[in-house]
Amino acid sequence: MTPIRVSIFLLAAACALPVPAQEKMLNLYSARHYQTDEALYANFSRKTGIKINRIEGKEDELLERIKNEGANSPADIFITVDAARLAQADALGLFAPVKSKVLEERIPAHLRAPDWFAFSTRARVILYNKAAVDPADVQNYEDLAHPRLKGKVCVRSGAHPYNLSLGSALIHHLGEQKTEEWARGLVANFARAPKGGDTDQIKAVAAGECGVAISNSYYIARLLRSDKPADKQAMEKVGVVWPNQKGFGTHINVSGGGMLKTAPHKEAAVLFLEYLASDEAQAYFANGNNEWPAVKTVNVENPALDALGAFKADTLNVGTLSKNTARAQKIFDRAGWR
Ligand code: FE
Repeated sequence: MTPIRVSIFLLAAACALPVPAQEKMLNLYSARHYQTDEALYANFSRKTGIKINRIEGKEDELLERIKNEGANSPADIFITVDAARLAQADALGLFAPVKSKVLEERIPAHLRAPDWFAFSTRARVILYNKAAVDPADVQNYEDLAHPRLKGKVCVRSGAHPYNLSLGSALIHHLGEQKTEEWARGLVANFARAPKGGDTDQIKAVAAGECGVAISNSYYIARLLRSDKPADKQAMEKVGVVWPNQKGFGTHINVSGGGMLKTAPHKEAAVLFLEYLASDEAQAYFANGNNEWPAVKTVNVENPALDALGAFKADTLNVGTLSKNTARAQKIFDRAGWR
């Protein structure tokens, strides 16, 4: 090539770069932090030349920080877990709508809200002590309110987003009145006042303190993959049920994120969201926390998830799901689910 042709070639190559030179970085506020994240972000930077500046923190703290930073927030992307929290950010008007063919094609419609996207899913399942409870008695969420389980049910606080999202789904499927009756029945069946996280409920079921509990699937997968003999022994005592397989399906929740309205690097932000929907990123993102990829064609090799098997998931839209959260909280408060 002559020098002129070379420079034209370079110019053309430069124009083909996905991001303008001034947008070579991305500020990511993330409430998700797993070992596989390093590789996930490094691959994005390698592909696009965009450096990721990561701010990690607890979900509520990050949200508070973005709120306080206001129009001057450097945040481009907010990633967090649970539709209830994503909806909270959305209700505060923090997200900007993103129009992207890639995201529309890759992320199934029920895993997209108007202003944010889900990138992985987790299921809220029922688990039981094999020696104390007949699995036939706990096939549906509704069963947990049946008087035959009196003194047997353990679950974390009714104020936690995981339970509020489940309540939100139940309101959609059963209506408010039935959901309230359910919550009252559930509370009447408590083995103990709600305390601890999902892992504590699993361990209490294994120990026989509770007969049955509700937990997110990745906590079960984590214990199934644990090298600790105590965890292995505990999991042998526990059975897992995919709830509501004959009806609306097992309630699923999501990890997800969106672009902030005040994002200083909007092009980079859209590229990053699209990257999260790529085959490679989906595998990292989901597997990092033993979740399932949002993109249906992506497979992850995860022995614990494989052991749990296939199930029918509720396909209620994540945006719709989160709309009932406040009502779920009122119902749980009235029912005394603290
Ligand atoms: Fe969690």
